[in-house]
Amino acid sequence: MLLAGKTAVISGAAGARGIGFATAKTFAAQGARVAILDLDGAGAAKAAAELGKEHLGVACNVTDKADCERAVSEVLKSFGQVDILINNAGITQPVKVWDISPQDWDRIQDVNLRGVLYLSQALMPHMQARKAGSIACMSSVSAQRGGGILGGAHYSAAKAGVLGLAKAMARELGPDGIRVNCVTPGLIVTDINIGKIAPEKEKEILAGIPLNRLGRPQDVANIFLFLASDLSAYTTGAVIDVNGGMHI
Ligand code: NAD
Repeated sequence: MLLAGKTAVISGAAGARGIGFATAKTFAAQGARVAILDLDGAGAAKAAAELGKEHLGVACNVTDKADCERAVSEVLKSFGQVDILINNAGITQPVKVWDISPQDWDRIQDVNLRGVLYLSQALMPHMQARKAGSIACMSSVSAQRGGGILGGAHYSAAKAGVLGLAKAMARELGPDGIRVNCVTPGLIVTDINIGKIAPEKEKEILAGIPLNRLGRPQDVANIFLFLASDLSAYTTGAVIDVNGGMHI
């Protein structure tokens, strides 16, 4: 088992059909104890219970620094240590650039970008003291190709910000034995987009994907597993595409 004896914190993993929960299931199957942190506290508790009684579900709003610190201390109290952080929580908003309001901008930056900083900061002292840790952050193909399928320009900007933040963290935390990497998924079928793409639009999207299918949460979970495990022991500051060739 790739994660035997390890503990992991995964944000935004309450939704049964989401990338976060697929990652939580994958990590648990590989021997890790998993703490699911989500704005939806009841959903996080339910998802953790589904994995088994050694796992934990904690309510946490990643946009609130104090709340991240509280949630992390709850996890540390229960697990004693944390080896892995997956910054997965995110939201999108399909809106044209000329329609983005100041409130839209703030909301999208707060969850997708600020949340990555706050939750990582909350775990840094612990990981630095142990001289070990793997942090993986959720970006998106939207950051690379200038627009996703459903996300607006503010979403692309936030996910591009995640790339810069993760690379800077990789540089600063490397000497402390902490690795930081990113994934950039293409279109993955989850609650964020299910039922929101018209059939003709889906056909058009598929025509631009050389592997000729949309992504599955498990496709991304497998990459998070690689980044969390010692298989990637010499990989930091990297960006791994999981997009079926949508952006090459
Ligand atoms: P999802 O809606 O199932 O997952 C997002 C989760 O984040 C939800 O459980 C939600 O409750 C949680 N969340 C929202 N705001 C939060 C907050 N303030 N604090 C804590 N948790 C919060 O959708 P998903 O597609 O699984 O998305 C997971 C991540 O993958 C997101 O960051 C998304 O931007 C990114 N992503 C998704 C796709 C895709 O096509 N589905 C592609 C690229 C990137």
